[in-house]
Amino acid sequence: MDFELTQEQKDIQTAAREFAEGEFQPETAREFDQKHEFPRAIYHKAAKLGFIGSYFEEKHGGQGLDLFDNVLIEEAFCRVDSTLGSAMFAALFGSDLIMEFGSEEQKMKYLPKTARGEWLSSGAFTEPAHGSDVTFMDTVAVKDGDEYVINGGKTMITNATIADYAVVLCQTNPEAKHKGQSLFIVESGTPGFDCNELHGKMGIRATTLGEYSFSDVRVPKDALLGTENRGFYHFMEFIDVGRINVAAQSVGMALGAFERALKYSKERKQFGRSLSSFQVIQHKLADMALDIESAKLLVYKAAWFASRGKIIPKLACMAKTIATANAIRVISEAMQIFGGYGYLADYDIERFYRDIRISSIYEGTTEIQKNVVARILLQE
Ligand SMILES: Cc1cc2nc3c(=O)[nH]c(=O)nc-3n(C[C@H](O)[C@H](O)[C@H](O)COP(=O)(O)OP(=O)(O)OC[C@H]3O[C@@H](n4cnc5c(N)ncnc54)[C@H](O)[C@@H]3O)c2cc1C
Repeated sequence: MDFELTQEQKDIQTAAREFAEGEFQPETAREFDQKHEFPRAIYHKAAKLGFIGSYFEEKHGGQGLDLFDNVLIEEAFCRVDSTLGSAMFAALFGSDLIMEFGSEEQKMKYLPKTARGEWLSSGAFTEPAHGSDVTFMDTVAVKDGDEYVINGGKTMITNATIADYAVVLCQTNPEAKHKGQSLFIVESGTPGFDCNELHGKMGIRATTLGEYSFSDVRVPKDALLGTENRGFYHFMEFIDVGRINVAAQSVGMALGAFERALKYSKERKQFGRSLSSFQVIQHKLADMALDIESAKLLVYKAAWFASRGKIIPKLACMAKTIATANAIRVISEAMQIFGGYGYLADYDIERFYRDIRISSIYEGTTEIQKNVVARILLQE
């Protein structure tokens, strides 16, 4: 076992940090947060430097890096800024599924353009009546000759309004429940495939949110992603990687808030002393560092196995549970150290506080992570 990053991993981390420090200025982040807009120009720059889909194979437009490398990039980006950092990874839900389960033709069609930042993808699983429970979908896809006809709707889909294509989980055999689900790639502009924007999001506002409706949407049989009726299992495998990604972003956000609070505690004086000279504040800083370090170890462990082809669901769920809970606590304490200034929109902490909250809800809520961990423990 080696806890030291390799020189190549350190170089990736440094490059990601330098890029983020150059592009994710606080005023830029605040602007996108206020406008609720996806930062396309910055995204294109990130893509040009190989940070988008870096783990795609080189022939598919990627850098051939692994999940652990991507975790380092996510952490570095979100450490510099929670809003812009997390936005850089939010248009890859669909493409990641294609990378994992797509045919060579599908990979060649979708991945290079995605890695170049030209195409954005979305992953559409949640439905109004099916959030945590995706064992049955109301959205159905029925085979009709060489096509499938999709009807139904999806909700709370990240970047739905701007995605060029969506990967959609549908019921292909309703009687078989989760054993009768399949994934389809649906391109925007396909007749009958419509989208509405959902407004009023608390955080991660440099991404958009929307709902999809499918009304007799015809897709060719080549749009089937992976194996017919294995969609649920494909999704479960994919989401374990997604959980590690959310966990890594959470560690980054916690680190970013911690560093800001540490600096502020040394600069801010009350009662003639710096805040950092009060033992209560020192303990807060120590607790924050403990939370970050323990989460990071678990996230790195889950990512290390995954990058060696061993995706361990229990570890992925543990990493997400701990990393998100710890990050929420760390960022809340950072706000406490900033006092009233932390609560104002002019400071980063207020944005970090809003941005981190979703981490324990999407890609499976904390309760669902614990259900998975408990189920595995009882089976072992
Ligand atoms: C900003 C944002 C972005 C999102 N992006 C996407 C996206 O890109 N694609 C996508 O498909 N979805 C997306 N979602 C949806 C998200 O994944 C769901 O909100 C999430 O899975 C929870 O589903 P739900 O909201 O229906 O809550 P519910 O499933 O109704 O859960 C409500 C509460 O009950 C608890 N609960 C439910 N079942 C159990 C159980 N068995 N045991 C214990 N507790 C339980 C939950 O943990 C939660 O606390 C997004 C949501 C948001 C807010």
